[in-house]
Amino acid sequence: MRKKIIAGNWKLNKTVSEALAFAEALAPLVAGKDGVDIVICPPYTALYSVSQAFQGTGVATAAQGLFWKPSGAYTSYVSAPLILDAGAKYVLIGHSETRGRFGVAEEGLTPDLLKAFGETDSGVNVKTHAALQAGLIPIVCIGETLAERKDGSTDAIVRDQVTKALDGVSSDLVRSQLIFAYEPVWAIGTGEVCAADEAGRVCGVVRKTIESLYGADVANAVRIQYGGSMKPDNAAELLAQEHIDGGLIGGASLKPADFAAIVAAA
Ligand code: 13P
Repeated sequence: MRKKIIAGNWKLNKTVSEALAFAEALAPLVAGKDGVDIVICPPYTALYSVSQAFQGTGVATAAQGLFWKPSGAYTSYVSAPLILDAGAKYVLIGHSETRGRFGVAEEGLTPDLLKAFGETDSGVNVKTHAALQAGLIPIVCIGETLAERKDGSTDAIVRDQVTKALDGVSSDLVRSQLIFAYEPVWAIGTGEVCAADEAGRVCGVVRKTIESLYGADVANAVRIQYGGSMKPDNAAELLAQEHIDGGLIGGASLKPADFAAIVAAA
């Protein structure tokens, strides 16, 4: 039986004081929820304070990304050791918004500006290795765009992203540490949730892909989250799917009551 994991990805939201107010409000709402892993991903600027605020509450923290080198002349980047030092246990890797694959058309986002996001499959792979080596738990995000879904390549895209992310990763680390998040790009921030049975089916494709690489034992141990317009009113149906082991929540993680309601559904 895989333990459910509910993670709130705040993206580019919340000052330190707003983040601390959230932590204070959330802690009593999820107190005693031992059967589910609860994670909040603040922006880097609030990671240390939020990690401190959640100490002893059972809520863990994640960084929203990392750089693969541990230290050195890499202006603006943040490494796995620094993320651990700030108090986080998890890290998101390969979110569609860091890959530059957006669900909602962004005004003024020219092809040239889009390159500024630029996380590639190889980048996802080296970051996954770096996180695991440092002892951080990677949540590797994958998912198809609307155009890819329309042309029928959803399963092929998901298989390809999973396979490339895992290149060279040992079966022990996949089994014990790695988490995937299936986030169909067209369902992110759009209010358009993927139907529960379809989300569950694609999470099953993720598991089958892991099975083809590492065998059934490893595949059955890996947790797979769904993300994309998950809300208190649709969470229970999504989380009841055989292959969905949790949620990665954007918009609905910004309010303590909404996020706590999703935790309660897990
Ligand atoms: P929304 O829940 O706002 O659709 O965002 C999902 C997401 O991208 C989480 O990482």
